[in-house]
Amino acid sequence: MINRILTDEQIIRLKYLIERHNNIILTCHLSPDGDAVGSTLGMKHMLETMNKTVHVIVPDMIPRTLLFLPGAKDIIAYSKLPDVADRLIDNAQLIICLDFNTPKRLDNLAPSIVNSKAKKILIDHHIGEEEFCDLTISYPKMSSTCELVFRAFMGMNWLQSINKKCAECLYAGMMTDTGNFSYNSNDADLYSIISILVKKGINKDRIYTLAINTSSVDRLRLIGYSLDQKMEVYPECGAALIILTREELERYNYKKGDTESLVNMPLQIPEVYWSVFMREDAEYVKISIRSQGEFAVNTICEQYFNGGGHKNAAGGEFYGTVDEAKAVFLSIVEKIKGDKDGL
Ligand code: 5GP
Ligand code: MN
Repeated sequence: MINRILTDEQIIRLKYLIERHNNIILTCHLSPDGDAVGSTLGMKHMLETMNKTVHVIVPDMIPRTLLFLPGAKDIIAYSKLPDVADRLIDNAQLIICLDFNTPKRLDNLAPSIVNSKAKKILIDHHIGEEEFCDLTISYPKMSSTCELVFRAFMGMNWLQSINKKCAECLYAGMMTDTGNFSYNSNDADLYSIISILVKKGINKDRIYTLAINTSSVDRLRLIGYSLDQKMEVYPECGAALIILTREELERYNYKKGDTESLVNMPLQIPEVYWSVFMREDAEYVKISIRSQGEFAVNTICEQYFNGGGHKNAAGGEFYGTVDEAKAVFLSIVEKIKGDKDGL
């Protein structure tokens, strides 16, 4: 028995909006991860069983590691095809926003979505949702948007209609957002849901291999270099820092997704309870922070790095040099040390 989380009112309104509209756009956040892609594609496969016309439009390209998901190759990246995307959005009757809670996360796609006359639904699990949709279904306690989408299907009595393709996509998001069920994953319902998805015919081991446990030679060498040469540990305040410059990334033929999960690795050290990764991108320094336990990193990202996220997994962008970004990190370290000394 899986607990019912969504309210009756949410279920009734969601069902009404979906049943009433035929031309539907699904979208998710910039730099889509497994949960963003899994939830949009999972929703697409469900809606297609109802003969809806569905397009998935995302701000930028999805990582190569997720291209195996059914329907992934039909995803339209706004960064590549803005005119095509805008025409489809113009004709849409309903837009479902998945795995983000503020238009800012849509990057250049934001104006087209926000200004569209279509009805809008938000389904998400990040803290601090903004009101820009007609229906907002936000549950920050949920470990993934894919789990929330599954629960929405369950609430609408649509479990029978989940086909293998839909199940594969939802499973991929649940798996990636919990690090293959190694964090945020102690809720028994999660395993009842997985059991249902496995009965739909998915091969969960294959999904793990393709989505998480696949690396190029360049990526493995870049990870090795990062841990050996670039990781700095600050045991006095439980921190670790890895910075990669553009020159270093180019040296290892960096491709999008190659540094995925690097930020988690220093958390294997018992003394480290928060880990920071900074990657020098073309326009800004991309920041990723992960933590364990009660140490909240979303507030650090909000306060210092134009970002946000979850308590234990957050990110942001720093507009400046990598040295300036590091100086900000060191100021946070000093503050934590100071707070400890003051105790
Ligand atoms: P990652 O470090 O993998 O990019 O992101 C980790 C988490 O932080 C994800 O849940 C993601 O949604 C959130 N996040 C990453 N970058 C940003 C950002 O720039 N703004 C906000 N609000 N959240 C972010
Ligand atoms: Mn997510």
